[in-house]
Parts: sequence; C-alpha cells; structure tokens
Amino acid sequence: MSLLTVQDLKKSYDGKPVIQGIDFSINKGSCVALLGPNGAGKTTTLRMLSGLIRSSGGKISFEGMSDQSDIRFNIGYLPQHPVFHTWMSGKEFLIYVARLANMDKQIASKRADELLARVGIADAKNKRIGKYSGGMKQRLGIAQAMIHQPKLLMLDEPVSALDPIGRREVLTLMEELKQETTLLFSTHILNDAEEVSDELLLMHNGKIVEAGSLEGVRQKYRVDKLDVSFQEGFTPEEAKITALPTVLRMETNKGVHHIF
Ligand code: ADP
Repeated sequence: MSLLTVQDLKKSYDGKPVIQGIDFSINKGSCVALLGPNGAGKTTTLRMLSGLIRSSGGKISFEGMSDQSDIRFNIGYLPQHPVFHTWMSGKEFLIYVARLANMDKQIASKRADELLARVGIADAKNKRIGKYSGGMKQRLGIAQAMIHQPKLLMLDEPVSALDPIGRREVLTLMEELKQETTLLFSTHILNDAEEVSDELLLMHNGKIVEAGSLEGVRQKYRVDKLDVSFQEGFTPEEAKITALPTVLRMETNKGVHHIF
C-alpha cells in the first residue's frame, strides 16, 4: 500500500528548475534510499515533503490526504544539519521538543525516556548534548524526528558526516527502525544505500533517473554489487569511462566507481 505519493513535483529557485517534475511512491513498511551525487536535489525534495519549503508545482499526498498539515503530522524529518541546544541534556532536549509538539509534561517525560532507550542513548540521557559524539547526536536527532510517532521517518544524509563508529551506530539503528516504521533516507554513498535500503530512487539533476528494488537495479546494470560511492574530482585522464544507460561505470586508478 502506498503511504506517500509524489506526482510531478517541481521546485525552481529564481526561475531555475532544481527539481524537474518527479514522480514516485513510498510503500508502507518499505525502506527507500534517495541516492544521488551532491547537488542532485535530494535535500530540496525532502524539505518539500516535510513541508519546510513550498513546491513550485505538483502534488504530494499521504494516505490519500494532500493537506499540508496532515502530511506534516505524519512525517518525522531529520535534517542534514540538525540543530541542538547543546547546553541541554538529551532528555531535557526531547522534553522541550515534545512540549513544542503540545504534549503535557508527564507524557513528554515518558516519551523522552522511551525514545532515548529506543535509539540507544538512555545511559547518556542526563549528559549535556555538547558532550555527545557525532553518532549520539544523530541518534538524538532521530529520536527528535520520532517524537510525534510519525508513520514515515525521513532522514537527510544521516551518516555522511559521521566517523566510522558513529556511522556504524546509526546504520545499525536504521536497520532496526526499518522493521518498525517506513523509512526514506537520502545519501550520496551507494554503500550506505545498499546496506540498509530495499529500494532505490536514483536522483540526478533534479530528476529521478531510476527507481526500483536494489536487486532490480543490480540486474539492470549487470553488476553483482553496487559497491562504490560517488567520487568527484576524477579527470578523464584518470578514468576510463564506460557509458551505461544512466549510470557511468568508471574505472580509475583508485578502483571502480559507478557515477551518474
Ligand atoms: P542534494 O541534497 O542532492 O545535494 P540540494 O537539494 O541541496 O541537492 O540542491 C539541489 C540544487 O538546488 C543545487 O544545485 C543547489 O545549489 C540548489 N539549491 C538548493 N537550495 C537552494 C536555494 N535555497 N536557493 C538556490 N538554489 C538552491
């Protein structure tokens, strides 16, 4: 069953189209990676879905509803650069967020405890956020996004700024959360998409250039494993490029890369 449906969604800045009429749907219970290189339009798409910015055209509907406030109520969103009040403890921060979402004090405290346990930072709940590691901050951000029990959790580049330990912590949490909720996350790293998601939306230049199951995409491009990240800065001298329909397979002196 489709939870979220996007039809001909567009966004322009100063007349310049950055999202060029995209269509996709997210099924209930699925885990979808919105994958594309930097500048593809991932953040802009997620910000439109979360209601943070207006689209320039098209339609977003959630379980058949297209009213922006209904949609916002059903989606939890972790931005790429979440802002925390670092002088607060994790628990104080979540209570603050819950109070902003109109929860009464006791319910907010209970919800904060539940979520801190759920994301695995209950031991640090009374510690100042300023002392949290990158992975702990991201887990707190995920808890924040889940405060109102959304049906769809959207995470914008949840692991790209993390060190290997933080990355592992957050990917493990995402693996667990995908059993419980519908998950849409953006990444520019193929490995991260492959590790957690079941489905891919491949984005390039403001368009969805490919959509489908991970397996389907692998078969289409006749590769066993999509084991590469988007790399920038390779020159033609460094790379031998073989054009596939929409993905370029790039053999470089630093390994094999698939890029759009
Ligand atoms: P991604 O998340 O895939 O890196 P973005 O959605 O951040 O891509 O950006 C897509 C394109 O839209 C980029 O070319 C970016 O420069 C442009 N863009 C994003 N936000 C704005 C803005 N507020 N004003 C003008 N251009 C923007």
